[in-house]
Amino acid sequence: MIRVSLTFLVFIYLFLFLTTVFGVWLWLEWKRQRRERLAIRNRLRCSLCAFEFEDATPEPLPCCPSCGQRNERNPFRSL
Ligand SMILES: [Zn+2]
Repeated sequence: MIRVSLTFLVFIYLFLFLTTVFGVWLWLEWKRQRRERLAIRNRLRCSLCAFEFEDATPEPLPCCPSCGQRNERNPFRSL
């Protein structure tokens, strides 16, 4: 039988608990950032009228649905 002190058992319990909580937090944060990246992947902002729209076509210069201006595919940055 392995003899350990109560202090060591409490330490092991807290260590495993906090490691599990930290791991779950990291996993959920990674999922949230991935979901956010996928949500804004095809989003564009018109350089003329600042209208934001989605365009999933492979066209290199998509037209703005509001004003018709052709826009480059710059990476969209949210605040
Ligand atoms: Zn526009």
